Amino acid sequence: MFIFDAHLDLAMNAMEWNRDLTWSVADIRRSEAGMTDKPDRGKNTVSFDAMRTGNIGICMATQIARYVKKGNPLPGWHSPHQAWAQTQAQLSWYRAMEEIGELVQITDVDTLDTHLEYWKNTDGKKAIGYILSLEGADSIITLDHLHRSYEEGLRAIGPAHYGPGTYAFGTNASGGIGVKGKELLKEIEKLNLILDATHLCDQSFWETMAVYEGPIWASHNNCRALVNHHRQFSDEQLNELIQREAVIGVVLDAWMMVPNWVRGQSTPKSMNCSLEQIIDNIDHICQLTGNSNHVGIGTDLDGGFGTEQSPMDIDTIADLQKIPELLKKRGYSEMDIVNIMHGNFIAFLKRTWK
Ligand SMILES: [Zn+2]
Repeated sequence: MFIFDAHLDLAMNAMEWNRDLTWSVADIRRSEAGMTDKPDRGKNTVSFDAMRTGNIGICMATQIARYVKKGNPLPGWHSPHQAWAQTQAQLSWYRAMEEIGELVQITDVDTLDTHLEYWKNTDGKKAIGYILSLEGADSIITLDHLHRSYEEGLRAIGPAHYGPGTYAFGTNASGGIGVKGKELLKEIEKLNLILDATHLCDQSFWETMAVYEGPIWASHNNCRALVNHHRQFSDEQLNELIQREAVIGVVLDAWMMVPNWVRGQSTPKSMNCSLEQIIDNIDHICQLTGNSNHVGIGTDLDGGFGTEQSPMDIDTIADLQKIPELLKKRGYSEMDIVNIMHGNFIAFLKRTWK
């Protein structure tokens, strides 16, 4: 089954974790033996080969760099200019991966259709399709920088990540979008960029809904009804998104899948965290809508965690291929499964880019 993954931080792994994603998962793990600078050292689940093995032929791939003002304890760059430069380094890595045939950029209906045909009709080592997305907009110094990013193929943008941001408040923070946020949203709408609602805190989420009318999705988000945390969307928020024809990508980060996860202490086994909870999240969204048209997969599997914080039946990203069978067991039809594994996100893009 062809898979569309709506959220991977590939370039962050390359440029900040120093992972060469052209290596196998096993080789990357071996190279990190004994390292302790990041909690997921030696436990990564993503490489280009693992993606090809898992038939993950398209992903939303992020540029991500936080700007922290003086006094903000979160890790990040001390100026938006440094944050911008970091995103440009990430872009440069994506370009280098295109040059050696590991990745191919998708920016419109033509490149999307061409890639889908190519993936179906090619054997052996294939270039994985990627669509640029910016996670957290702090690196956008001025709206001109947004236009420059659009020219480079940026097609989706989330105004906030963790904490207070320039344009909106994100996870573990609360506040509104202000004048700057509204200006950004207007420009996003003008450019027909996809607004990624993931990470918006409740206040910023609802203030955004009051003024924004362009395309919107949530690339990596689970349900608050199943794990009660403000990083998750309430049914009211999910219904608002669905009514706007959004697709919600379910995320495979363990703390968003099982209640009461304690980072660094809980283990997937001790919490009985498996893909079953991902099916629960998919099912919850489908039950809200009465159909399978508004949910997809946005794994985040390389988002600063590895097997220590992933479902226990995921060793590499290729194990996403276990999901169709689990959906079938829950009574989902072949058509539903196609919608969820790739159809909904692809249909969204075609609708938006037509
Ligand atoms: Zn995220």
